Amino acid sequence: MIRLCIMLIASVLSPSVERSGTATPDAQELAISLAAARLAWGGPAVEDIQFRLEPLNDCDLRPGHTSRTAQLNTSDTQTTMAFDDGSPSVVSHHTTYVITVNTACDWRRLPLQNTITHEYGHILIGSGYHSANPNSVMYYIVNAKQKIMPEDRAMIAVRSPLTLAVPSEVLETSSNRH
Ligand SMILES: [Zn+2]
Repeated sequence: MIRLCIMLIASVLSPSVERSGTATPDAQELAISLAAARLAWGGPAVEDIQFRLEPLNDCDLRPGHTSRTAQLNTSDTQTTMAFDDGSPSVVSHHTTYVITVNTACDWRRLPLQNTITHEYGHILIGSGYHSANPNSVMYYIVNAKQKIMPEDRAMIAVRSPLTLAVPSEVLETSSNRH
């Protein structure tokens, strides 16, 4: 089974979101963003996350336009173990995640950290959840000022019985801000 989340950007925000470096983030930068997202959310560590760099659409960044910035693909592999001695079979699930970052976008002008934090939120909460609050990092349109809201965190608690660490405002001090 494959589920999909698509994230959008409506317009380019303040110049304070600019990254130095190239238009497309490299593997190291993505790894750092992922580590920061893990720290910001807390919760159970999710390991099987890969990045893919692909052009998803034309990425029109003019004000008033909406473009796709990233998407998350989730695939779930179910394995059933049966036993000769009549014991009940055991079903296990293995989930892998691929975050695709749109290489048609100029990531010097987009909030990479919040994009990755958003997609990681889907991994913890599920692909169907979006916040109705534009200030939440789980709103379907990304900007650099959004944060993880208490109601977003509460969605993980619903999904996972594991106790969550509640980090302080990690995003405030992440390297993506200048
Ligand atoms: Zn989303």
